[in-house]
Amino acid sequence: MDNLGLDSLVLIVEDDVSIANLEKRYLEKEGFKVLIASTGEEGLRLVSTEEPHLLIIDYRLPDMSGVELMQKVKELGKKIPSVIVTGGGDETVAVTAMKLGALDYIVKDRDTIKHLPDTCKEVLKKFNLEEENLRLMEELKRVNKELTEINKKLDDLSKKDDLTGVFNRRYLMSALSYETAKAHRYNYSLSFAIFDLDHFKQINDTYGHTTGDVVLKQFAELLNNRLRKTDILGRYGGEEFGIIFTGTALDNAMTICNELRELVAQTSFGPEDIPLRITTSAGVAYLTNGMEKEKLIDVADKSLYKAKESGRNQVVALQKEGETS
Ligand code: GH3
Ligand code: MG
Ligand code: MG
Ligand code: MG
Repeated sequence: MDNLGLDSLVLIVEDDVSIANLEKRYLEKEGFKVLIASTGEEGLRLVSTEEPHLLIIDYRLPDMSGVELMQKVKELGKKIPSVIVTGGGDETVAVTAMKLGALDYIVKDRDTIKHLPDTCKEVLKKFNLEEENLRLMEELKRVNKELTEINKKLDDLSKKDDLTGVFNRRYLMSALSYETAKAHRYNYSLSFAIFDLDHFKQINDTYGHTTGDVVLKQFAELLNNRLRKTDILGRYGGEEFGIIFTGTALDNAMTICNELRELVAQTSFGPEDIPLRITTSAGVAYLTNGMEKEKLIDVADKSLYKAKESGRNQVVALQKEGETS
């Protein structure tokens, strides 16, 4: 704190020359550099050209009040700590000035002015602390924002499949546990489907693995765009995708799956130079009373097998509509 006076430039705005000089002498003794302006306008000019660190402002200036001057300094976009100097018995002025951002005030008499350098050091110290505080708060905000973004990325990484961007198997399975428990508890309908690309090995064998990857990505995107927000799509295995249809009975699930199957059959896949046609088969299962998640998957899987066996490019449900267990 003893060094605060050194190198700090103080601008005194005071129309009473003898007071201004007295203040200047005390301040210079403590190592402050001092400039004097005798009007508000001159003060403003020096604020712009000299960049003072601290302002000592007389409350009553010939062309404006000290508070007005503070306001104008602010309007210039300058943030400079200020000390207001008031006449004796004018404490209300001091309160107004402090409310408007003055960091301290002194009463104008020869005894108090002696203490002006101490007041200035205190004010500079307070101002620097506040600035540092603001800087730290900004830094904290920035770091918090970064952390939120990183957490979101980590969360995505743990839930999503790298290649296709849809949910991964682990997430799909935990969602299925949760959704089946909810469906049993609240008596909601729930269906589950497994889609498997037909003869996908041939795509890889004919066009290469990279093209196969492109097709898988496009396939997942096509399904994802067509599904509702309440449906949960995940990559179940290599070229197999699972869909949880929440609040959906078997006939509706079958309709949606058939629409998806047709859409796939009508779409061109692959890179632009090799437009490919593919088909897909699906097995659909419906959650019946007390049915476990594993059984639901098993029924969907067996239904898919049946679809393959029956010639592919079809959707099969081994359960009958209205079956309850
Ligand atoms: P089916 O109609 O009976 O399902 O025939 P299929 O050829 O699709 O079935 P199969 O299980 O014999 O082959 C699946 C193929 O999927 C083989 C495998 O290389 C490929 N595959 C699995 N994961 C990926 C992947 O991430 N990228 C690529 N390009 N291919 C994959
Ligand atoms: Mg005056
Ligand atoms: Mg397969
Ligand atoms: Mg396949």
